[in-house]
Amino acid sequence: MQQISVDLGDRSYPILAGAGLITRGDLLRSHIKGSQVCIVTDDTVAPLYLEAVSRQLEGLRVISVVLPTGEPFKNWSVLQQILDALLEARFDRKCCLLALGGGVVGDMTGFAAAIYQRGVDFIQVPTTLLSQVDSSVGGKTGINHPAGKNMIGAFYQPQAVIMDTDTLRTLPAREISAGLAEIIKYGLIRDVGFLAWLEQNMQKLRTLDAAAVIHAIVRSCEI
Ligand code: NAD
Repeated sequence: MQQISVDLGDRSYPILAGAGLITRGDLLRSHIKGSQVCIVTDDTVAPLYLEAVSRQLEGLRVISVVLPTGEPFKNWSVLQQILDALLEARFDRKCCLLALGGGVVGDMTGFAAAIYQRGVDFIQVPTTLLSQVDSSVGGKTGINHPAGKNMIGAFYQPQAVIMDTDTLRTLPAREISAGLAEIIKYGLIRDVGFLAWLEQNMQKLRTLDAAAVIHAIVRSCEI
């Protein structure tokens, strides 16, 4: 596992990247302050990982919200499903939302956390390569509006970003390519040495060699 920290004073948070981290209950729990947790995911990721994550949180009061998959559902009415579930469960200001999925789930969960009871904690557990190197880091959250993409939202920082590289194994090849394209962009923008490393290690990255993927994710997040 590798760790970097995003230094933002009292809103600082760690980014952890490693294999098998969603089965590390100690890690997940160490970033949850209260006893109420709402796991938000989509109906593609839920059958793959929801149970594994829930199991790590036994003893806490855990609810889950399973959203329909995909960009067309990143909107007000689907966001409302998260808020409805929190209110129905009577979750209070000490609750924590856990975003389990790609960038769509992360953006919506982060925005729900920003506005529920004027702001509650949230943890990002990104499960696509793109969301691990881009959307889960930096605190941009939000939803789309019919008039434009990402038009409604807030800057809101998570308590932690926990990236399990094992979850990438179930991603379609096209989603791996989308993440690798983003990683190459970081090399081009900032670090020619990293770009050369990417060229030399592309085969390892494509086959999801854990050490190579963790290095690529961490360097991208640093940049
Ligand atoms: P996504 O969340 O739609 O995920 C892509 C697909 O992969 C979905 O079908 C999802 O269900 C599936 N999936 C997720 N994890 C999986 C896994 N481990 N195994 C199998 N399938 C899995 O899309 P994305 O590419 O992760 O993110 C795109 C979104 O991120 C866009 O809405 C974009 O606006 C947003 N974004 C936000 C930021 C930001 O700074 N907040 C930056 C870049 C992109």
